[in-house]
Amino acid sequence: MPFFDITDVGTTPRRKLTPRQRLKVWERTGGVCVLCERKIDAVRERWIVEHIRALELGGADHLANMGPAHEACAVNKTRDDHRRTARAKRQKIRQLGADVSKRPLPCGRHSPWKRTVLGQIVPR
Ligand SMILES: [Zn+2]
Repeated sequence: MPFFDITDVGTTPRRKLTPRQRLKVWERTGGVCVLCERKIDAVRERWIVEHIRALELGGADHLANMGPAHEACAVNKTRDDHRRTARAKRQKIRQLGADVSKRPLPCGRHSPWKRTVLGQIVPR
């Protein structure tokens, strides 16, 4: 089991927005989707407040980092953000050496012993 705190990867805590704050986010772009840059028809289309730089990638939870987005556009961005976050976490785990087992496979890469081509077991 890796001894690694997932919360350390730079995820910013998320605050709930008030209706007034949502209005401010809407008016920052004049109702234009920050992802596809088309006008959002708020009556017919569902929209959400999108963090332009994702919180899980270290983006700030400030109005400057928020904009309105079509719900359909945000699905694709969220999927991409999750993919990039998972990759960043894997890289950090590897860099910290948190993925090395305390009980390595016998003669495996992290074992103090190795097996030679002739089948002899010698210290690494
Ligand atoms: Zn859009």
